Amino acid sequence: MPKLLLTSFDETLAEHGHKTLRALRIDTLQVNVGKLCNQTCTHCHVDAGPTRTEIMTRATAEAVLEVVRRYPELRTVDITGGAPEMNPHFEYLVEQSKASGRHVMDRCNLTVFFVRDKQHLPKFLADHQVEVVASLPCYLEDNVDQQRGKGVYGRSIEALQQLNALGYGQEGSGLTLNLVYNPLGPKLPPPQAGLEADYRDELAKRFGIRFNRLYTITNMPINRFLDDLHRSGQYEAYMEKLIMGFNPSSVDGLMCRNLISVNWDGRLSDCDFNQMLDLPVEDAAPQTIHEFDLARLARRRVVTGMHCYGCTAGAGSSCGGAIA
Ligand code: SF4
Ligand code: SF4
Repeated sequence: MPKLLLTSFDETLAEHGHKTLRALRIDTLQVNVGKLCNQTCTHCHVDAGPTRTEIMTRATAEAVLEVVRRYPELRTVDITGGAPEMNPHFEYLVEQSKASGRHVMDRCNLTVFFVRDKQHLPKFLADHQVEVVASLPCYLEDNVDQQRGKGVYGRSIEALQQLNALGYGQEGSGLTLNLVYNPLGPKLPPPQAGLEADYRDELAKRFGIRFNRLYTITNMPINRFLDDLHRSGQYEAYMEKLIMGFNPSSVDGLMCRNLISVNWDGRLSDCDFNQMLDLPVEDAAPQTIHEFDLARLARRRVVTGMHCYGCTAGAGSSCGGAIA
């Protein structure tokens, strides 16, 4: 194994003057409502799919909402999954979070709009002014279908057109539609601004589609993507790319420093990636949504691992795209 792989993330941080990685503040509660999804994408860090049964119950959703109401500092409720809309309590979470005056984000795979009994979703999202963050890893059909499944591109385009028809992506509508790109294989994303311009041109030219921002996100070496790296013998080369690409200017903007992530069963983690690795927040911090204490969580030490290099390589990567 190359020596590079022995350099832990904490050692690299220390070399750049960060003795430990600590939260700065928490303004976002990221809620993962479970692993149920209508797709089984090759790069999925959640290992989500149609047969997964781990989903947030109403009681846990109530505990989440109680925290949202208690802490106005949590300005954003960021709902993810799986396909979060497949959780029967998704709409309740949205309605109640909005009623508490929070900004709500839905990390949407777009094809869920075509699942039985979900056709009302675009209008529901628009009626509640939910920001839609939608996965579309390319503007070309073959690349999307290769990563996300046959026919996904066509349905994604149709879903984006439905959202546009409701006002999403249109200036002045207050309805934000952001797209998410991730590389097809073990590569770093290209520069975000240039790719956003290409997406804008191509989607407008081909389908008349409008959107607000494009977020480039690095594939994390965990779960299904990690299995793929091992199967194809590319794990070490990919890790070397991430480690060599460490960008110190991404550290201040790491998403674990301003959000806290709650699992489908109420456990707390520093981010969705740590959650998927079953890494809870540090022992000294409250461990579940039922013990939530914003002040203590906001000064916690972040639990790190080799996967964290995925967030600091190149331009950096977060749920809001490039960092640096
Ligand atoms: S990447 Fe998203 S849409 Fe694809 S299987 Fe995972 S959760 Fe579902
Ligand atoms: S993987 Fe999570 S804990 Fe690690 S740097 Fe990224 S956001 Fe922070």
